[in-house]
Amino acid sequence: MSSRIEEFHPLSGNEVRMYACGPTVYDYGHIGNFRTFVAVDLLYRFLRQSGYNVRYVMNITDVDDKIIRNAARGGVNVQQFTAKYEKAFVEDSALINIEPPKLVHATENIPPMAEFVARLVEKDLAYRADDGSYYFRIAKFPEYGKLSKKDFKGMLDGARVDVDEYDKDSARDFALWKAPKPGEASWDMPIGPGRPGWHLECSVMSMQELGESFDLHAGGEDLIFPHHENEIAQSESLTGKPFAHFWFHARFLLVEGEKMSKSLGNFFTLRDLVLKGHKPSSIRYLLTSVPYRNQMNFTTDGLKQAAVSVERLRNFRLRLSSGTFPEGASPAMQTLAAETIDRMRVALEDDLNTAQAQGAIFEMVRQANAAFDADEVKKDDVAPLLAALKKFDEIFAVLDDDDALKMKRIFDWASTAGRDKDISEGLRETAQADQLSDEDIEKKITEMKTARHARDFKASDALRADLAAAGVIVEITKDGVRWRRK
Ligand code: AMP
Ligand code: ZN
Repeated sequence: MSSRIEEFHPLSGNEVRMYACGPTVYDYGHIGNFRTFVAVDLLYRFLRQSGYNVRYVMNITDVDDKIIRNAARGGVNVQQFTAKYEKAFVEDSALINIEPPKLVHATENIPPMAEFVARLVEKDLAYRADDGSYYFRIAKFPEYGKLSKKDFKGMLDGARVDVDEYDKDSARDFALWKAPKPGEASWDMPIGPGRPGWHLECSVMSMQELGESFDLHAGGEDLIFPHHENEIAQSESLTGKPFAHFWFHARFLLVEGEKMSKSLGNFFTLRDLVLKGHKPSSIRYLLTSVPYRNQMNFTTDGLKQAAVSVERLRNFRLRLSSGTFPEGASPAMQTLAAETIDRMRVALEDDLNTAQAQGAIFEMVRQANAAFDADEVKKDDVAPLLAALKKFDEIFAVLDDDDALKMKRIFDWASTAGRDKDISEGLRETAQADQLSDEDIEKKITEMKTARHARDFKASDALRADLAAAGVIVEITKDGVRWRRK
């Protein structure tokens, strides 16, 4: 709110209460949406790693103009329609290791929303229009514009808007409650029949879950105005208390240097990318690689590089967990591991500087790999180096290799959802690769053992990657090489 860097402290004890605006479930989520959701996931994970007890709530907007329109177009009712896309959202979030927040649904909280409107009317902060809709009177909230830093001094008292999104630069009384139009979902409430406006949903559900004042409110930068401005206006004018203490907005993502749009052909859902053969871990890694407040340019090249980065980290971990090391500890490695943990924390504490945190782990990998090659990594260095990787992965969540399994799920979905024609050769190979017979696997394992014996780790890693892509987990222990299917 202050547009300055401030130290973060929770309002109450060790608990962080945080709310993120979730998806409007009218379609599959695109990578812009997931850029924001991943940014909030990182924030959540980092607050938790920092020792806070985080209560993290996200709304599902399951009634709005677009939903009503698209459901009608598809000839299904609103519940069937939104259930399908909410399920997709939950699955897609899991696909890129987003930890599930507590989800709250607009349609399950209608009575408190109507009640909220009634209280605003009582205080003359809202009024009823002739058609039975209710509007918030922004002239009653002189601080209107304080989040977006817009000056609305000359704003028109009484000018109204009833769509969920509107002109970015003008202030209008916004719809709190919309009277039903023929064929639209509506609820009979003491204030009359209708449905809630989008802004009202978030105010009511966030305060209901987290209290009238809470710590953090998050979303993409497009929500600053009017959505969050309106949430502040209606909440603070009713309660007389500050609404959210900190605001977190992820900058909009570009694709190949352009604004993502269907007409430019650069519009991708998460599933589109997996259909093209990209691994979920590459997508997550790429989305985390630019700090949330910076413009991120999403490119195919970037995805390929992200895949290499993830593979490098996974191979490093495998090397640590499967190698044999001389007894003892090397002070250089001990220091390196400890300093890396510090550097990552300092980077993330600085407004979530993910790029710098990734830089720190790669510097560790580079130095430790050089030490490996010189036989300078000792047995007691393994645990601290693994501990640094673990700290990293508590936030970035890319080390466990379950890509093949997840890609197979998308393959199966595409086959049943009429998207067969979009399945790339790459995805098909990955999805069908787990048809490797036991003999095929044993053969590769033998090759791997030979390569390792000759200290040809590159060849060994490549074989392991092939097996991983086929859904085979390889574990190298002191007693030999074991494998199992996922
Ligand atoms: P929606 O489902 O449209 O309500 O959007 C869900 C979330 O995605 C909101 O927080 C939006 O701000 C965010 N969002 C939408 N497009 C982009 C984009 N291109 N880049 C980053 N975030 C986005
Ligand atoms: Zn919201």
